[in-house]
Amino acid sequence: MAEYTDAHAGGAAKDMPELSDEDEEQWQCMDEEEEEEDGQPVSCLFCERLLSSVAATLQHCTAEHQVNLVDVIRKHSLDDYGYIKMINFVRSTKCDASCLMGLPDAPLPWESEAFLRPVLQDDPLLQTDPEELCDTQGSSASSCPSSGPGSHDATLLRAQAAEERARQSEEALSRAMDDLHKLKLLAQGLVLNAETGRPGNLGTVAELREDEDEAYFSSYGHYGIHEEMLKDKVRTESYRDFMYRNPEVFRDKVVLDVGCGTGILSMFAARAGAKKVIAVDQSEIIYQAMDIVRSNQLEDKITLIKGRIEDISLPVEKVDIIISEWMGYFLLFESMLDSVLYARDLYLADGGSVYPDLCNISLAAVGDTQKHRDRIAFWDDVYGFNMACMKKAVVPEAVVQEVNADTLISEPAVIQTIDCNRVCLSELEFASDFCLKITNTTDCTAVVGYFDIFFDKGCSDKVMFSTGPQVTKTHWKQTVFLLERPIPVQAGEELQGKITVRKNKKDPRSLLVTLELRDRKQTYLLQ
Ligand code: SAH
Repeated sequence: MAEYTDAHAGGAAKDMPELSDEDEEQWQCMDEEEEEEDGQPVSCLFCERLLSSVAATLQHCTAEHQVNLVDVIRKHSLDDYGYIKMINFVRSTKCDASCLMGLPDAPLPWESEAFLRPVLQDDPLLQTDPEELCDTQGSSASSCPSSGPGSHDATLLRAQAAEERARQSEEALSRAMDDLHKLKLLAQGLVLNAETGRPGNLGTVAELREDEDEAYFSSYGHYGIHEEMLKDKVRTESYRDFMYRNPEVFRDKVVLDVGCGTGILSMFAARAGAKKVIAVDQSEIIYQAMDIVRSNQLEDKITLIKGRIEDISLPVEKVDIIISEWMGYFLLFESMLDSVLYARDLYLADGGSVYPDLCNISLAAVGDTQKHRDRIAFWDDVYGFNMACMKKAVVPEAVVQEVNADTLISEPAVIQTIDCNRVCLSELEFASDFCLKITNTTDCTAVVGYFDIFFDKGCSDKVMFSTGPQVTKTHWKQTVFLLERPIPVQAGEELQGKITVRKNKKDPRSLLVTLELRDRKQTYLLQ
């Protein structure tokens, strides 16, 4: 220990974090435990044997491996420091006993500081004071290294070990905190799902949203939904007629098709004279669109990009026209208009246009006592049992179905007009007062909602289509809001009401619609 100076000790101490009182307490506890653990088995340095104590290990080494560790300590004047390094050297290099014999005085093979790191956890040999070993082995104190600075060193080593353990505990705690946080989010997600009545799903809230979007786009990956849309002649021919009959709108223009699906609108635009069409879709259907575009030799005009319009960047800075078929049930279900507005605000050149440009949402009163009985009164007597409580589950679900025009008992009332070139996102949630002019004296059993679409801006030949009950049916059908109790109405009277449309926060693609009619108020979910 002669070379172990105070300066050295100071340097080592500087590198060591200060132990807090708590650490010190822990350290004391560990010390006591270690003393109690004196009887714990000891692994031999040179073979697989487990010995009952340090003393038994020394005897075993002398008898079986012909090496007396005390002699080694004495010969090389090993202090605590050197002793620990020697033990770890033997354990880490797995050298045999002969490697400790006939060593020169210096340099010793375990000089490196790396041998301070314990090879075995809680190695009892490392917890042994070499001076004590020399004493118990009957050597003279003078031939053993002094205990002063060496003990200090051992303390430092033990403190280092304690620090390492504290660091590992901190890491474990941090991992546990992370897990706890994930569990919290998972629980929130499960509660959210339980509230919306959808099946449980493991993941965070953000993951749930992503999953919902994934499901949304994967539904558009199947050909069936596109077949239904393409076969909806009212819809598809309206887009076609608008483009073919207004070539001046498209000539030499750069067009963006938001949600191109099979590419039908892009191909109409190309045929109408567009210079370039950029077609974007996140769903897998775009791979079909790529084939379709090539099969129709339009690959020079139409560039297809797979991705969410919100995530990709276009190969051009600005476009002259945005076309999109984004309409959902009751117009706003699906919230795809949000994506069109995003594209408009980012890519539409000054003076450019979004088509379709105008949309109306309308309501009308329905008097269909037969259907009302079938859906509502039915629950009053089901095979002789009262199941009236079920009405509370039936009524709040808006129903997408075809409404027979003969059951309309009012003139329609437009409750909202949307100009796609001007509207902002926040206006897609709104409240509106309306007045239904009643045409028949009967019971009002429901209110029906639908929308009309206009291709108007700058068109010499304007095109429109309606999804109302009086005209040819479309795949959007109509949206029916059933009244729990019918309202008696007189021909000529005006039925006043208020409608509120907002996104469902728990699933922003679905809608919450609140209808106030006379003294009734009911919220409907459209999903
Ligand atoms: N334009 C086609 C398809 C309309 S359906 C036609 O008229 O037949 C709407 C399409 O928009 C779907 O294929 C859907 O995957 C896509 N879509 C919806 N939101 C989108 C978004 N944010 N980014 C990219 N594509 C989107």
